[in-house]
Amino acid sequence: MSLATLSVEDLAQQLRGPVITPEDAGYDEARAVYNAMHDRRPGCVVMAEDAADVMATVSFARENGLALAVRGGGHSTPGYGSCDDGVTLDLSSIRNVRVDPKGRTARVGGGARLGAVDHATHAYGLAVPAGFVSTTGVGGLTLGGGIGYLNRRWGLTCDNLVSADVVTAAGERVTASEDENPDLFWALRGGGGNFGVVTSFEFALHPLRDIVGGPIFYEYEAAADVMRVWSDYLSRAPRELAAFFGFHMAPPLPFLPEDRHGDHLCVLVTCWCGDPDQGEAAIEPLRSAGPIVGEHVGRMPYPALQSAFDALLPPGLYSYWKSDFVSDLSEQVIALHLEHGRGVPTVHSGMHIYPIDGAVHDVAPDATAFGVRDARFAVNIVGLWPDPSDTESNRAWVRDYYEAIHPYSGYEGGYTNFMEAEDQARVRENYGPTYDRLSRVKATWDPDNLFRLNANIAPA
Ligand SMILES: Cc1cc2nc3c(=O)[nH]c(=O)nc-3n(C[C@H](O)[C@H](O)[C@H](O)COP(=O)(O)OP(=O)(O)OC[C@H]3O[C@@H](n4cnc5c(N)ncnc54)[C@H](O)[C@@H]3O)c2cc1C
Repeated sequence: MSLATLSVEDLAQQLRGPVITPEDAGYDEARAVYNAMHDRRPGCVVMAEDAADVMATVSFARENGLALAVRGGGHSTPGYGSCDDGVTLDLSSIRNVRVDPKGRTARVGGGARLGAVDHATHAYGLAVPAGFVSTTGVGGLTLGGGIGYLNRRWGLTCDNLVSADVVTAAGERVTASEDENPDLFWALRGGGGNFGVVTSFEFALHPLRDIVGGPIFYEYEAAADVMRVWSDYLSRAPRELAAFFGFHMAPPLPFLPEDRHGDHLCVLVTCWCGDPDQGEAAIEPLRSAGPIVGEHVGRMPYPALQSAFDALLPPGLYSYWKSDFVSDLSEQVIALHLEHGRGVPTVHSGMHIYPIDGAVHDVAPDATAFGVRDARFAVNIVGLWPDPSDTESNRAWVRDYYEAIHPYSGYEGGYTNFMEAEDQARVRENYGPTYDRLSRVKATWDPDNLFRLNANIAPA
């Protein structure tokens, strides 16, 4: 169904934020999402300013039977933050962050980016666990789980959610917390954008100012040893230590020799979030894992590490990802990683293995919608390339790599937030043990599946 001009005008009159249509100069900018694979043309883009704008827009889409794409940071690889023909609801103007240093909580607008949260909380020596790249949206990341450097010590991002203000499919504003609408609160912590539009998140904060960390690049040939030493060390290291393993082409960074730029290397990206004076000693055992090509490890403000890789991951690249949960890195699996890791096709692409143990495992599998609480790692194979003529070769690298390792992962599903649109077919596996309950909560809050542009849960 296309939009009748009159109804869009009606909507615009109810809103404080602008409504952008194909006739407007800013339309191409307003409809773009992070992944250039998705060139979608919504009937209009609503730049919501507040919860009232969100309520009016949700009701408008529902009453007109239009597709509704809700966009936080616009980072989802399947491009769920935009749609063809219908309404794109952009939350990026709802991004205020208010810190309560006494109560150690932060109120975060539903369209904020991670960098805004780190910036605001760092001023008080506080932090909330979130992702590795500061441009990612708080909305999608939190609702799907939230993997980052602080997980081992303080849990996933969603484990630190205290409450949320939600605009439901009925266009009404409700609060979700342990005390109010607990079924909705349960579902928001891992069930994605299926249940409503979150206009405000309330997070618990933890004391953190400086971390000790950064990347250590090793020769590719040492990758098997690096994987073994890292995996073994992490299994007994204090929860303050995080380190993810990766395959990359050496980026043009000053701490790597110029004649090695573009070479295939492996990397451990480290982060010690305990007493900074103990950080170097905690990271030191990882240095003996293999010959080091270059490293940039040191004490720095937490937001500095959080934004360290932003420049390698600009918006507007083409991207295709595959993901698995895994606990056991057997010799056979390590051999497969070595075989495929050398094929990393561009300096933006890579394969990462993120630890999700420690405090993540303290939470019972049924306590939140993020139900996979026993996997040690989340694996992410990331293809990112600037030239659309390279699409087939880049996708083939990701797919071949994934098909080689997936049979050994030990889990049917992977992390919802790293999934492609084609992975809708295994959405039940990705949500894992919580899917049936999610489906029942979906039937309560969104029985007609208005919020369906996401890793979609069918209403029971
Ligand atoms: C460069 C890059 C780095 C990443 N790094 C990490 C990482 O370190 N850790 C990690 O866990 N994940 C990471 N991700 C994955 C990320 O968590 C997902 O892509 C997530 O969906 C992004 O959220 P968004 O708000 O930016 O995306 P969007 O595309 O705007 O939204 C994604 C989904 O969430 C819904 N949504 C967004 N905001 C709201 C809201 N306020 N209320 C209701 N629904 C909402 C949307 O409708 C959509 O279905 C990364 C992704 C990219 C591209």
